[in-house]
Amino acid sequence: MALVSKLQSLSSSLSSTHFRKPNRLNPEPICSLHFNSPSYTSPFTEKHSIERYQRDRWLYNNQLEQPTLISLPPDSDSDFTRQNDIALQLPELRKLLQVLREKREREGGCGGGKCGPGNVFLVGTGPGDPELLTLKAVRVIQSADLLLYDRLVSNDVLDFVASDARLVYVGKTAGYHSRTQEEIHELLLSFAEAGATVVRLKGGDPLVFGRGGEEMDFLQQQGIQVQVIPGITAASGIAAEFGIPLTHRGVANSIRFLTGHSRKGGTDPLFLTENAADPDSTLVVYMGLSTLPSLAQKLVHHGLLPSTPAVAIERGTTPQQRMVFAELKDLANEITSAELVSPTLIVIGKVVALSPLWPHNLNEVTSLAGAI
Ligand code: SAH
Repeated sequence: MALVSKLQSLSSSLSSTHFRKPNRLNPEPICSLHFNSPSYTSPFTEKHSIERYQRDRWLYNNQLEQPTLISLPPDSDSDFTRQNDIALQLPELRKLLQVLREKREREGGCGGGKCGPGNVFLVGTGPGDPELLTLKAVRVIQSADLLLYDRLVSNDVLDFVASDARLVYVGKTAGYHSRTQEEIHELLLSFAEAGATVVRLKGGDPLVFGRGGEEMDFLQQQGIQVQVIPGITAASGIAAEFGIPLTHRGVANSIRFLTGHSRKGGTDPLFLTENAADPDSTLVVYMGLSTLPSLAQKLVHHGLLPSTPAVAIERGTTPQQRMVFAELKDLANEITSAELVSPTLIVIGKVVALSPLWPHNLNEVTSLAGAI
């Protein structure tokens, strides 16, 4: 009870006297459960895909035959184009590799055909706001010859890429993988072997649900050193944006990052231990939209209060950011009515009610439920 009152008083003091300056991304404080902005069906980097494709049509000097200009289907929408970006670029990639190898030989840097590989960087780009990039990430992005990026890397981040660098989309969208992980490995390897400075951009932190470990492992086994540049993971970037302390003395003493996807990528029920239903812990669910109804049920089954504060945030830290605050029992329905789409992050736990944006009416309900 003491805890609940503390939570309530802290929350109300935050929302009255210490109400934070509205974030530049959300100039208006949010008073309702969710606010509506147009619902987009594509991830936030897809909209410029055609422009990017055109920008990245590769031009070679005359030593190679003129590259075939690939025409896009006239009615292509951005989803189609992005999903096919790499497939369209494959012939050009091969040519680029050849150019790199020839350039290397011409420059005489490789005695007896033994060239040292180029540098490979695995770079975390944060949740979307380019100002959340590290200085190190910006420096490496600006100096790259070739960049491979996935769908969580925002356009604003890609604006740091040098104009003569090659940018290749290797992203995956739910249910559709434009490239297999193995193909991405091969691409990274081929370009590194040809001496290029290769940057693999990954949304958030590359080592948090980013398969960065697998890419690192593969390249290291092939004798290529990989440098990892951390990024701000969605949990940290988004929690900061919303004023949610992921841990808070007396409220949450641990955090658990959970994936809503099974290893097969399907919607199998999650194997959830009772520990995940710890009321003194904050649960952050990545890729959790489709499995939330079953997750919420399990959490309640294992003892979490149905009134536990929760929030789902779509495209956090970007101008398209949308969110839904609700109690755990209602969150899945609220998400459905707000039509949130991926990428959406879900945060569950008492700390959510510490956000100055947590709606007051829900706060009262939560406190009452906690007092019973
Ligand atoms: N490596 C990333 C996570 C990749 S898994 C990181 O550290 O953040 C992809 C999931 O991350 C998405 O499905 C979503 O749950 C979450 N995510 C990443 N960026 C996000 C954003 N800007 N807004 C909301 N969720 C995001």
